[in-house]
Amino acid sequence: MKRETVTILGATGSIGESTLDVIGRNPKSFRVLALTANHNTQRLAKQCAQFNAELAVIANPALENELYDALKELGASTAVMSGEAGLLAAAGMPEVDIVMAAIVGAAGLKSTLRAAETGKKVLLANKESLVIAGEFFVLTARQNGARVLPVDSEHNAIFQVLPAGFEQGLAQAGVDRIILTASGGPFLDMPTDKLRWVTPAQACNHPNWDMGRKISVDSATLMNKGLEVIEARWLFNAPPEQLEVLIHPQSIVHSMVAYRDGSVLAQMGTPDMRTPIAHALAWPRRIESGVKRLNLSLENDLSFRQPDLDRFPCLGLAFEAMRVGENAPVTLNAANEVAVAAFLEERIKFNRIPSLVDEIMQDLDVSAIKDIDDVLKYDKLARTRALELVKRKS
Ligand code: NAD
Ligand code: MG
Repeated sequence: MKRETVTILGATGSIGESTLDVIGRNPKSFRVLALTANHNTQRLAKQCAQFNAELAVIANPALENELYDALKELGASTAVMSGEAGLLAAAGMPEVDIVMAAIVGAAGLKSTLRAAETGKKVLLANKESLVIAGEFFVLTARQNGARVLPVDSEHNAIFQVLPAGFEQGLAQAGVDRIILTASGGPFLDMPTDKLRWVTPAQACNHPNWDMGRKISVDSATLMNKGLEVIEARWLFNAPPEQLEVLIHPQSIVHSMVAYRDGSVLAQMGTPDMRTPIAHALAWPRRIESGVKRLNLSLENDLSFRQPDLDRFPCLGLAFEAMRVGENAPVTLNAANEVAVAAFLEERIKFNRIPSLVDEIMQDLDVSAIKDIDDVLKYDKLARTRALELVKRKS
């Protein structure tokens, strides 16, 4: 079997590193062609040297020389590019089969879209792209013969337990509901009056998953689950009323699909992103991922409960944005990205994240989205307003 070639957008992040780990365990199946990062030139150069990458891209153009020097020092013959042009080139390289889209936030939109436009197998971790431009993304992939494989653990789980041909319509496939599980994050049972005082370090200390800082904060507010509900809407062509969230603190059941006949199918595993990454990389084959085997006899307490929307207003805001549609998810996502960054910089308190997102959503009109330029326009508008609020009140 031919070795498949891979680009990783966001190679230095948590998903990027886990992807390289899985590729390293399966050198006969995959070959790295291009790796990208935002500013960590040393880490990127090391990865390129280790995996013999042909192209390294640093998003910040001011760091191109630094990357060049770091590669030279390691004796790597990797070519260097930078900025948006570099990211688009890495995503669309004609000789690349698979693109892992693992940049965090709306910053990943254009390069992820380029992978879809060029008909790649797109391994989708960058959920924000689907939240803000899901309809366009799915259409672009379909028109260009790109196969989208979900990497987010919930969506990967759902993909594994959905029947073939689900894209034609969930009802036709006998599906009643899609149930996304949520761990509830580090503050699931903390008294709500204490939430105001939690620190970035506490918010990033997730009980089950080791992830980047932005998604860790999103998991603590449950905005992550809200973004995932919108992601599922587009990935699975799911009507909003068929999407549900259930709290499952142990993160063993990664999500479920309930069928018309009463069957509920779940996918389980140790909480380690290398399982969904390996699944998406090799699909429809199964490969070694390095993940610790699940021993259910040691998991004697698998519990489930309804989410508390008073404690986690972000989840309700995301459901609202999904139902409203148009530019509402763009506004939700942009305001959240600004709020989370401000919290991580200790400019706002943790419990200000949902109220700031809510204010921006109330403040901005709902407008139709015609194309990607509209997405970018409303993203910028919401960011500007959110930044003003952060500045005014911090
Ligand atoms: P991370 O912060 O660890 O890594 C982000 C990567 O994106 C880094 O390589 C960084 O260099 C790059 N990047 C950041 N800003 C950029 C910019 N402006 N331009 C270009 N590159 C940029 O994040 P992560 O945890 O790996 O998450 C990546 C994506 O995967 C997110 O969308 C997240 O929601 C999703 N995801 C992550 C996990 C997880 O376990 N970490 C699970 C499910 C989904
Ligand atoms: Mg997830």
